[in-house]
Amino acid sequence: MSKHHHCHAIGCVRPVPPKLLMCPGHWRLVPEALRAEVWRAYRPGQEKDKRPSREYLAAARAAIDAVAEREGKRRSMAARLFMPSLFAPSLFGGGKGGLG
Ligand SMILES: [Zn+2]
Repeated sequence: MSKHHHCHAIGCVRPVPPKLLMCPGHWRLVPEALRAEVWRAYRPGQEKDKRPSREYLAAARAAIDAVAEREGKRRSMAARLFMPSLFAPSLFGGGKGGLG
């Protein structure tokens, strides 16, 4: 038996029963359609044999993403990805700023 199953929301370590994907606080942030999708794909006992369906994993992932987005955690990751392209011109463009 796994003793430490916790909420799957990014950065959350709240313990939750294995059959639940997230703690109640985070679960509430998941759009209703996605919540329904997660439960639809859920198979009783999957938390015991550790073999959730691909559908469940996909739905779970989408739910985790949705929560991260609502909490602004995904944005910062995206920002990190975008930053290089924001600064790349000055690195590769070769000082056309007129300051040289
Ligand atoms: Zn949580």
